[in-house]
Amino acid sequence: MITGSILAAPTPTGFIGCAVDTLGQPGARVPLLLDLIRNQHHGDAAAVTARYVHDHPAGWLMLPDRGLPGACYCHTHHRSMNRTFTERTADARHPWVYVLNATHLTVLRNRGNGTFNNAGDFLWADEPAADPGAPLRAWRAVYYPLHDCALPNILAIEPDPDDGDAELIVACLQSITVDAATAADALLLAHAAIARTADQADH
Ligand SMILES: [Zn+2]
Repeated sequence: MITGSILAAPTPTGFIGCAVDTLGQPGARVPLLLDLIRNQHHGDAAAVTARYVHDHPAGWLMLPDRGLPGACYCHTHHRSMNRTFTERTADARHPWVYVLNATHLTVLRNRGNGTFNNAGDFLWADEPAADPGAPLRAWRAVYYPLHDCALPNILAIEPDPDDGDAELIVACLQSITVDAATAADALLLAHAAIARTADQADH
């Protein structure tokens, strides 16, 4: 399957990442990334970003998978081309984008012309489904404020927020607090709340 995709890190305007030429459809790629980060790197998305995104500017023919070494163009094939893409340069050859956020994977469907749909979020930490009637707790979703682009761009979802927002402001980040039983529910609620905030800013 030669479905192209981009393996990316979040940025203030969207994402930056390298091209991967095969097996880019979510059914294959999401399980691979969850296994890579949950099981092989103990949830350390930053380490995986450094090792699999930033170190390979020419991109991958095939990502490493359990037992298979993978092949990149820069190191395996010794080519010096640059195939780094952002939300502005990702084209139709890359219908899927996988953004490695601090706490979760965001899957984006590239619709072309610079627009993307959020096709799902997957937490690095596996959590059990909440029982019906489970108590709600407060979660903080950290995100870059975006004004002219509908990219869902939540970087991290954290339980039990304190009031320490000063460092977020220094980093040009914003946060929103939602009440939910699980981190997965909190992510969904935060996406909806941020979209409403963006809509209000537009009108
Ligand atoms: Zn390489």
